[in-house]
Amino acid sequence: MIRMNTQYAELKESYLFFNIAQKTQAYLRENPGKHLLRLGIGDVSQPLCPAVIDALHDAVNEQAKKESFHGYMPECGAPYLRETIAAHYGRRGVTLSADEVFVSSGASDELGDILDLFDKSSAALVIEPAYPAYVDANIMAGRRIVHLASGRENGFLPMPDDTADADIFYICSPNNPTGAVFGRAQLQAWVDYANRRGAVILFDAAYEAYIEDETLPHSIFELDGARTCAIEICSLSKTAGFTGTRLGYTVIPKTLERGGMNLHAMWVRNRTTKTNGVSCILQKGGAAVFTDEGRAQIRKQIALYKHNAKTLTDALDKIGLWYCGGKNAPYIWLQCPDGTDSWTFFDLLLRNVQIVGTPGAGFGRCGEGYFRFSTFGDPDDTAEAARRIAALLG
Ligand code: PLP
Repeated sequence: MIRMNTQYAELKESYLFFNIAQKTQAYLRENPGKHLLRLGIGDVSQPLCPAVIDALHDAVNEQAKKESFHGYMPECGAPYLRETIAAHYGRRGVTLSADEVFVSSGASDELGDILDLFDKSSAALVIEPAYPAYVDANIMAGRRIVHLASGRENGFLPMPDDTADADIFYICSPNNPTGAVFGRAQLQAWVDYANRRGAVILFDAAYEAYIEDETLPHSIFELDGARTCAIEICSLSKTAGFTGTRLGYTVIPKTLERGGMNLHAMWVRNRTTKTNGVSCILQKGGAAVFTDEGRAQIRKQIALYKHNAKTLTDALDKIGLWYCGGKNAPYIWLQCPDGTDSWTFFDLLLRNVQIVGTPGAGFGRCGEGYFRFSTFGDPDDTAEAARRIAALLG
């Protein structure tokens, strides 16, 4: 008889966004026509920039002509895009060869697929509060999970110690949901610890484009020793509005070896078996992000989201609520007032000022008592939300 992966029965209901949707729908049924100010889900509100749109149109037109038509693309990515991304790292002082860059359909796919490289018996360390996919992907694979709680006392940036008894370390910096960013010395401590233990760091850099303090590392490969312990997973979703278009990239150094195996070679084998590459049209669009024109245009877009962040943090400063993030990250993580729990605070904001945020409890147990605002929303709605928060809690 067929045997199913019973690990799926171990997954908790995707309670967070489901519950948010249920509560907001119920509110709208009771209050038809009310406009909700959505600071909850981490999706972008601005369209793709003109440089990307032009490149996408050109790429579609190429597909219409026999002489420029592309069939299957190389599985690990178009050479021109791999070179472009390696050159992007080079501008930050990180030397990569183009074939250490793998073009992907986005970070979510990679965060799940990359686990193919590791045996089921290897344990995964998840720093919480955390992006929920890390935990779920490892539950599906039947892997032991070590939850490392962080909190206000360490600025949501915990340091490694021997309780971090795991083989695969998830580090997300800038962090979703807390907006906290590891400094160089802190990240170096994780790199050194991973090398000492023989662990592998999965470094989620989905929000690196939001770093404005140039002393903070954008890439784990800015740290000494990262080439022997880390994989970096990146995305154009929040950098350039590709959430619906789908494009990302993953860096695996050729020097990364564990258990006598080379992880770069393993991933080449994995990709050539399990994918036929990313759409040539999207890769052309993605390459436009890294041109001078594209970079200038996405900087403007990121500035708009940063303006949203400033609007919200100004209101929080006025009220005197504790928060982190919002400066080098598109998320603001605040402590709910007066010891309120995060779902009660969610209801309070929804019912009194029609603001939808995300309760911290959805990101792990230590997220209880905290709340996440996304800064990806519409600027007018964000400004109105800031006014209402100040009036309600000020
Ligand atoms: N990693 C983190 C921390 C995220 O917050 C997200 C999306 O919100 C992703 C990865 C997924 O990004 P992508 O759209 O590239 O799949």
